[in-house]
Amino acid sequence: MSGLARRYRLLLVDLDGVVWRGRRVLRENVEWLRRARLAGARIVYVTNNSTRSRRVYAERLSAIMGYRVAPEDVVTSGYAVARLLSEKAGSVRVVVVGEEGLVEELVAAGHVVLPVGDGARCPVDYVVVGLDRGLTYSKLKTAHLAITRCGARLAASNTDTTIPVEEGSLPGAGSILAALETSTGVRAELVAGKPEPYMYRLAMEMAGVGPGEALAIGDRCDTDIEAAKRAGIDSVLVLTGVAGERGDRCDATYTVRTLAELDGILGDAEATHRES
Ligand SMILES: [Mg+2]
Repeated sequence: MSGLARRYRLLLVDLDGVVWRGRRVLRENVEWLRRARLAGARIVYVTNNSTRSRRVYAERLSAIMGYRVAPEDVVTSGYAVARLLSEKAGSVRVVVVGEEGLVEELVAAGHVVLPVGDGARCPVDYVVVGLDRGLTYSKLKTAHLAITRCGARLAASNTDTTIPVEEGSLPGAGSILAALETSTGVRAELVAGKPEPYMYRLAMEMAGVGPGEALAIGDRCDTDIEAAKRAGIDSVLVLTGVAGERGDRCDATYTVRTLAELDGILGDAEATHRES
């Protein structure tokens, strides 16, 4: 464990499939993360889920981890797309197809979130799409008109086509985005979520840590591990989530059944033994 903290100062940790699976907390992984923090590693939680804000995730994580997790220790794709918009365009007027967490982050970043009624009131700078479990035709209509009549550009929190649920999978933000791209013929020009490397880069910048000192931990090859590759950082595929269930494998730096296995891999069994 101490060897890990020496080698990697920053852990970029995915949530669903790593810290929890739906409502079930993944205890073995959580215990390992607690010990990594005690050994001196900084942890930033990085999730493609935009439905909740950093504030809400920080509260849930504090209860699970047993110490205070601050909103600054969390990067959601909602927060990331809000930041990305600020960087590229300053404060903008947006129509949102997404949930509360995305709206909260956009407002917190200083953007103007326009009401979604039964039409678009120009000017609209961007339509921002995230997972929206309250999606209606009226929202799609407003977003479509914002693009076709107001000339709004298209941005997305992430492009996951599906989300994993107990029943298997359900449509994700990428499927909602596809509906708007299809109806308008306009492609998203800004995408914040993994596999884009932006969220990892943002977290590294916030922590003041370079790529050589960061380790990404996730349960999916197509998002977590791919984003790590694009950001040029080492990665852990942990088989407690999607890849484990599907039997997916990819060239992550380390592949483990649970995070507890990392102690042995990083050649630190003795230190781990002493701690336990
Ligand atoms: Mg995950």
